[in-house]
Amino acid sequence: MVRIDLHAHTTASDGSLTPEELVRLAKQQGVTTLAVTDHDTIAGLSQAMAEGEQVGVDVIPGIEISCLYSDVELHILGYFINPDDPHLEPALARYRASREDRNPRIVQRLQELGCTLTYAEVKAAAGTATVGRPHIAQALVRRGYVSSVSEAFDRYLADDAPAYMPRLLPSPAEAIGLIRQIGGIPVLAHPVYASRLKEPFEQVCATLKGLGLLGIEAIYSSHNRQQTDRYRSISRNQGLLVTGGSDFHGEAKPNLLVGTGYGNLAVPAALLEPMKALAEARKEA
Ligand SMILES: [Zn+2]
Ligand SMILES: [Zn+2]
Repeated sequence: MVRIDLHAHTTASDGSLTPEELVRLAKQQGVTTLAVTDHDTIAGLSQAMAEGEQVGVDVIPGIEISCLYSDVELHILGYFINPDDPHLEPALARYRASREDRNPRIVQRLQELGCTLTYAEVKAAAGTATVGRPHIAQALVRRGYVSSVSEAFDRYLADDAPAYMPRLLPSPAEAIGLIRQIGGIPVLAHPVYASRLKEPFEQVCATLKGLGLLGIEAIYSSHNRQQTDRYRSISRNQGLLVTGGSDFHGEAKPNLLVGTGYGNLAVPAALLEPMKALAEARKEA
């Protein structure tokens, strides 16, 4: 079976492998097409694409942009984007600034909760990558407040935990609009996370489609069979593309592998054709 994976992160955002390492691992895993979709950055794309050419993996230039829908954070994947589009970098710089702005507030909150921790330690954990919650988690592990990254999330950092701080995010209209403006196909990532919304999922999809959404990531590492079938049928009913990916992060998500997710992920290569056709049609339009 030809294996593809349309959702993976590198050290350019919160993944633990460099773009080159990610592409080489994908190759080892038998992945023939890989989309690199870092959070709010395209910094890893050129290395990933160059490595893909070297080792023989088709790398789709992608991105994952966070947005806020009725107080719930949703992620919009963008595929076949043009990384050189002049509209992209100024918008991403704004989004990153809001992310950067949140992290010192989380550290401050942790200090209030009794954890001796400095922002410098968090930055050190991040190295050259964009600082994210996983780096704060690593710093908490190093200080001995928790024994693992997942415990750090459970006790402090998860969306409903005491040190959680919301950040200013673009609206779905802005995130979807930006992806379309730079030639990309906007797709709702991990739709199961949208179950935090009170609104019925079908209605959320219809609203997002009205804003220009073109697909749903129906096939996803943590979806069970029933969820996959449900999201597939909603996509079909609403005339949206079906996509699929692992959301590979490396160490930050142990046991989750590129290409196979938690072991039973299988993203059919046949999904690529309609995506490519749509990307081409949009280029010509
Ligand atoms: Zn995501
Ligand atoms: Zn992701």
